[in-house]
Amino acid sequence: MPAIKKYLAPKALEDLIRDASTEGATILAGGTDLLPRWSRGLTPVAEVVIDIKRVAGLNGVSRVNGEICIGACTPVCDIAKDPTIRKEAPVLAEAAGRIACPQIRNRATLGGNLCNASPAADTAIPLILLEAVVDLASATTDGTTVREVPITEFFRGPGATVLAPGEILTRVRFKPPAGGMFAAWDKFGTRPAMEIAVASVGVALKIEAGKASWARIGYGSVAPVPLRGRAAEAELVGKPLTPQTIGKCAAAARDQIEPITDVRASAAYRREIVGVMLRRMLERAGSGRKG
Ligand SMILES: Cc1cc2nc3c(=O)[nH]c(=O)nc-3n(C[C@H](O)[C@H](O)[C@H](O)COP(=O)(O)OP(=O)(O)OC[C@H]3O[C@@H](n4cnc5c(N)ncnc54)[C@H](O)[C@@H]3O)c2cc1C
Repeated sequence: MPAIKKYLAPKALEDLIRDASTEGATILAGGTDLLPRWSRGLTPVAEVVIDIKRVAGLNGVSRVNGEICIGACTPVCDIAKDPTIRKEAPVLAEAAGRIACPQIRNRATLGGNLCNASPAADTAIPLILLEAVVDLASATTDGTTVREVPITEFFRGPGATVLAPGEILTRVRFKPPAGGMFAAWDKFGTRPAMEIAVASVGVALKIEAGKASWARIGYGSVAPVPLRGRAAEAELVGKPLTPQTIGKCAAAARDQIEPITDVRASAAYRREIVGVMLRRMLERAGSGRKG
């Protein structure tokens, strides 16, 4: 592997944002996506590497102005066990806790999971359900600017995001969901650990007077990006959770997704499994059981 020519490890956010504007600079967080890519020759090793793990203020879960904020460098193992996340957003805790294995979860960060932009990124679907936004910071001629991007607009394709050169994802934010909501997330793979999802599905649902009054649905590993299930949501909202409604939702999901065939599963299998997973989650919601 060619040597890195310059390694920077800023401790303050202003220094990070300044360093990130260096031409050709690559951000290194936990390195669990980046280092395997480098060692397998899938991406040229960066000449300038900016290690962001020690930057103050980028690690941890906090409540700010009524929102839950998660720093980009928060390891996913901390998200899985954080009391606030477990209480307010258990689907995110569940997904974070099912990434890879304990060793990887200790290194892997939330920001890295999102910025790597894999369609299989496990934290992306819960964040779609939570209507999360990400803060993207960059240098300007006279300081720093931050733009806010809804998670549904962050991904552009496999390995591609809206991040501009020099831009850093600093945190993820969302409002705590109202109590009494049904929420569930699950991923399907051929083994229980160290498994990139063949498919994942998430559902968040408000049920009022026997009908779904609000819904967010998401799918992973079945499209070029983690996908919001707008077609199935449209079949659901305003309707009771009858077998007919649920069947139409599952059909809408199968139609909307764009799965591929790869080493883990065929496109046809992925289409089928997404319909099955969604149907089972909606049946659970309809039976009054919690996610
Ligand atoms: C064996 C193994 C199993 C895995 N299993 C799973 C799994 O089950 N589910 C899953 O979702 N993932 C899995 N992964 C992928 C990986 O662990 C996660 O995506 C992880 O969260 C990446 O975080 P990181 O901090 O290691 O990112 P890094 O490797 O450090 O960075 C990933 C990419 O994001 C960029 N980046 C990182 N942070 C920022 C930031 N704040 N701002 C801008 N750019 C940034 C980097 O430049 C790089 O391009 C697995 C990986 C391995 C090696």
